[in-house]
Amino acid sequence: MYGTGLAKGLRLTLRHFVESYIDDLRYGFRKYHHSTDNFGIRQGTQTKGVITVQYPDEKIAVPERFRFIPILIIEDDDHPTRAGKDWCTSCGICAKVCPPQCIWIVRGNDPNTGRPVPEPEGFFIDIDICMNCGYCAEYCPFDAIKMDHDYELASYDRTSHHIHDKERLSKPNSYWRAIAPTRAYDEMLVRGTWEHKDAAKEARRGGASATRSSALSSAARETAPAATAATAAATAAEAETAPAPAAEVEGATPWSEDDAKREERRRRALERKAKRAARGG
Ligand code: SF4
Ligand code: SF4
Repeated sequence: MYGTGLAKGLRLTLRHFVESYIDDLRYGFRKYHHSTDNFGIRQGTQTKGVITVQYPDEKIAVPERFRFIPILIIEDDDHPTRAGKDWCTSCGICAKVCPPQCIWIVRGNDPNTGRPVPEPEGFFIDIDICMNCGYCAEYCPFDAIKMDHDYELASYDRTSHHIHDKERLSKPNSYWRAIAPTRAYDEMLVRGTWEHKDAAKEARRGGASATRSSALSSAARETAPAATAATAAATAAEAETAPAPAAEVEGATPWSEDDAKREERRRRALERKAKRAARGG
């Protein structure tokens, strides 16, 4: 009969319309918020009603394995011996495997000897070319490059803003653990430490090399071996515990930092770079 399909469609639309309000009441208008439970409900089979997300006012939390433009892992600012230190050793493997060849690395050199040092002087990714395949993260032998969750990177200036430099790419280890707790935990088990492999080596050597590579003040340098040992002990204890907790920020994700926060992070990264240069590499 003519019009049956139309009537069915309208009935379905009406049902979704009504169920939307019932669902909103059931979850107290919190179903779009970024908690794990609500995310599961919002994207699961139990979802009822209109499923339109009012972006950008509402944002659905992304799954842990979601991947967007890579980031470079650096040690946390409060790390006792390696604060702000790059995990990247500028080995160049990621640049080699990158299918569209959008990674450029400038290897660091010791200004006195001219010999290469295992950290990048510069690191650039053209985010307009990157296809988010994740190969760089898969192949990195030092867990130094990871795929981010921040997909809000649009800007009006594609010439400069879309070439991410090392300062823009660098994010602390704690950030990676917040956005990908399960993966970070699995990697930690394989690596045997929450820190970079070098930190474990330094701990074994009693912190001898930690003093060279960290941003410690001279007073802190004197206590580096003890601090490194303490970190190693804490790491061992931590390794026995459950996975790192997921980011529990109600209504926000760890990457949803505003421009001021991003600028502050960039400023701190440039400060660290200046300090490294002042130390002579
Ligand atoms: S990110 Fe990893 S693979 Fe790429 S240069 Fe650095 S250490 Fe090597
Ligand atoms: S995600 Fe893929 S395309 Fe993007 S930088 Fe890594 S390897 Fe290259």
